[in-house]
Amino acid sequence: MRIFDVVIVGAGHGGAQAAIALRMAKFDGSLLMIGDEPDLPYERPPLSKDYLSGKRDFDRILIRPPGFWADRRIEILTDARVVAVDPSAKTVTLRTGEAIGYGQLVWATGGRARRLACSGAHLRGVHTVRTRADADRLIAELPAVTRAVVIGGGYIGLEAAAVLRKVDKQVVVLEALDRVLARVAAEPLSRFYEAQHRAHGVDLRLGVAVDCIEERDGAVCGVRLADGTVLDCDLVVVGIGIVPEVEPLLRAGADGENGVRVDQQCRTSLADVFAIGDCALHANRYAAGASIRLESVQNANDQATIVAKTIVGQHVSYDSVPWFWSDQYDLKLQTVGLSTGYDATVVRGDPATCSFSVVYFRQNRVIALDCVNMARDYVQGKRLVMEGLAPDPAAVADPNVPLKELAG
Ligand SMILES: Cc1cc2nc3c(=O)[nH]c(=O)nc-3n(C[C@H](O)[C@H](O)[C@H](O)COP(=O)(O)OP(=O)(O)OC[C@H]3O[C@@H](n4cnc5c(N)ncnc54)[C@H](O)[C@@H]3O)c2cc1C
Repeated sequence: MRIFDVVIVGAGHGGAQAAIALRMAKFDGSLLMIGDEPDLPYERPPLSKDYLSGKRDFDRILIRPPGFWADRRIEILTDARVVAVDPSAKTVTLRTGEAIGYGQLVWATGGRARRLACSGAHLRGVHTVRTRADADRLIAELPAVTRAVVIGGGYIGLEAAAVLRKVDKQVVVLEALDRVLARVAAEPLSRFYEAQHRAHGVDLRLGVAVDCIEERDGAVCGVRLADGTVLDCDLVVVGIGIVPEVEPLLRAGADGENGVRVDQQCRTSLADVFAIGDCALHANRYAAGASIRLESVQNANDQATIVAKTIVGQHVSYDSVPWFWSDQYDLKLQTVGLSTGYDATVVRGDPATCSFSVVYFRQNRVIALDCVNMARDYVQGKRLVMEGLAPDPAAVADPNVPLKELAG
């Protein structure tokens, strides 16, 4: 049996950064990264943005050039899925049956795209966007597509809709709630994005439930809504969230549900086993200490760095301010902090100019900002969030007052 000082399961953002950060922290031991995709680590955000639109090719979304890993003695197993963990023997078992020993294990498996539960969910022409393979299948079908239905008005669904409009497809977006982005943003931001998508020709329907996907000759031909309406289409994109990939760890006895519970150093309840990224359930200071999973590149990278430093014996705790971005049409959204639990919002600037920010307050303190084409607010507002400052809302609402003046 092969044994490595550190085994990283998952070769995505968190896994790759854990390996990079270990070598940067002068970790000299043996290092293996195991990933179930065929590719070397690549950036996932472009899959619903520039990669989907054809603006960036695959080589340009690799996290590091191919030679980088071997140069740093980072071994990578691709197309290899871990199906079991034995924390007492300190081994992981691959789908092939091969067991691999570890000194320390870093679980960085992200999540799989949640599928529709209705009939027709697995028909040809029904897509999710989580992996390069998903995006490639979608891209391959695009030339024959006239009408697309996007199910889910979250970031991934809306980004996919924007790309589909860009390549001139007819697009319907279906959202079950009464506004898009309802789980992550306040109403002014939702209404702004709804208006933008409609202005770009998207048929956006809110508060609608999908009954099933209709089939013709083994492929999708429509989406039937609960009220009986059938929307004809030749492509469906499903963006309804992810399911964290944690079953082997939970079966091995790790604490958690809908994620693996970790402490401030990203340690799970199993000895010498860490978890990071989308699958890690952690108490977050910016969520008022609530246990959450964050699905962002920032979180995956920062938790990976904490684990690497912990492994080499540094005393660090995960305490990063969350940030995120989304690109739709010519709109660059940058968010900082977490808006969950806000009790007031201030809109700074005029949404009609496509350049404004929504500032979120809880008990008078700034907890988050959503900045649309407003990089300056994003940069300057970060401090308001990190320090939990309580500026005068009237001053915050005035776009002529730089936020840095309110942080003093
Ligand atoms: C289309 C899309 C757009 C996004 N846009 C943004 C954005 O704009 N900004 C942002 O901050 N975030 C964005 N995200 C989210 C961001 O990509 C994730 O938060 C980030 O990838 C999480 O990193 P991770 O390492 O936890 O998981 P991943 O990057 O998903 O990596 C996990 C890897 O582990 C593999 N794996 C799973 N189970 C096993 C197993 N048992 N054995 C071996 N390998 C396994 C998976 O196949 C995958 O390759 C986007 C995500 C998607 C899908």
